[in-house]
Amino acid sequence: MHRVYNFSAGPAVLPEEVLKQAQEDMFDYKGTGMSVMEMSHRSKAFQNIIDEAEQDIRDLMNIPANYKVLFLQGGASQQFAAIPMNLMVNHKAGYIVTGQWAKKAAQEAKKYGEVVELASSADKTFSYIPDVSNLDIPDDLDYVYICQNNTIYGTRFPQLPDTKGKLLVSDVSSMFLSEPVDVTKYGLIYGGVQKNVGPAGLVIDIIREDLIRDDLDSKVPTMLQFKTQADNGSLYNTPNCWSIYICGLVFKWLKKMGGLEAMKKVNEEKAAILYDFLDNSKMFSSTVAKADRSLMNVPFVTGNADIDAKFVAESKAAGFENLKGHRSVGGMRASIYNAMPIEGVKALVEFMDKFEKENQ
Ligand SMILES: *Cc1c(COP(=O)(O)O)cnc(C)c1O
Repeated sequence: MHRVYNFSAGPAVLPEEVLKQAQEDMFDYKGTGMSVMEMSHRSKAFQNIIDEAEQDIRDLMNIPANYKVLFLQGGASQQFAAIPMNLMVNHKAGYIVTGQWAKKAAQEAKKYGEVVELASSADKTFSYIPDVSNLDIPDDLDYVYICQNNTIYGTRFPQLPDTKGKLLVSDVSSMFLSEPVDVTKYGLIYGGVQKNVGPAGLVIDIIREDLIRDDLDSKVPTMLQFKTQADNGSLYNTPNCWSIYICGLVFKWLKKMGGLEAMKKVNEEKAAILYDFLDNSKMFSSTVAKADRSLMNVPFVTGNADIDAKFVAESKAAGFENLKGHRSVGGMRASIYNAMPIEGVKALVEFMDKFEKENQ
């Protein structure tokens, strides 16, 4: 048995301790004589799992009592539709387009109402975050939407936009639980868990209670109404029990690691090791404006497609997996989520240094 250093953008690396706990629980979860995969979602054992998961994420993110935590299916992409369906009261919302995921969300919202593009960084291949400190925000917007960490391009909002009192909705998929957040600044924070938290197929919405409306257009599918999910404790139908269980284990691991302040510190340390190397290398360079660099997703290039390909092949052979960049950026990308140990980042930088010397 061996483990690689897995730099995948998602589904991505999980903490080894969590995998081992899941392995231990697999045959007989806490004396139930069955695994979590085989358990009724209406059972007491599963109710405990989801209740504890909710309490633990509330503790970790310091979620106020007037916010609901919803465990949903359909991934982040389904929320691209659910959000306008539930939150577009005036049928008009503002989107800040900083990458593919924000763009897709805006496109989906256009099916339900008017979308105002408040700012964009498409002019420079989404390699920076536009100035959002004083945007022109129309008065009748229902919300302002951002993708706070851009998985593909490796940017992250250094500050939240000034929404001038409008609701802020944020997709935090690829930075979920990587650092503390002030939940009260948002109407809705959500993320697919397969980047930084757990197994694919689950998306967690943290939504202010007063935004869960019971006067929605009755044509909105039952499953996509936040109210349905909130009223039923995310158990309207069979949820992704397995992913909820693993996320719960990850929440406990995060608590043990010292919570989100401690994660932020380690994540900053890990990112600094990689960015410092990139900034000093003659072969490799970062593709992202310094002030806007993600702590989680680090794209880099050599400027030569053949050398990029050679690097990807040789790094894979050396036990560094999934370093090939997204097809829209090219080059390489190292995703260094919570579960990537600092040793993995150090080993990667050593390998890059060696590669650079051998290929001058
Ligand atoms: C991966 C990703 C998505 C899409 O997630 P799915 O769960 O596959 O729909 C959306 N937003 C961001 C920021 C992502 O990284």
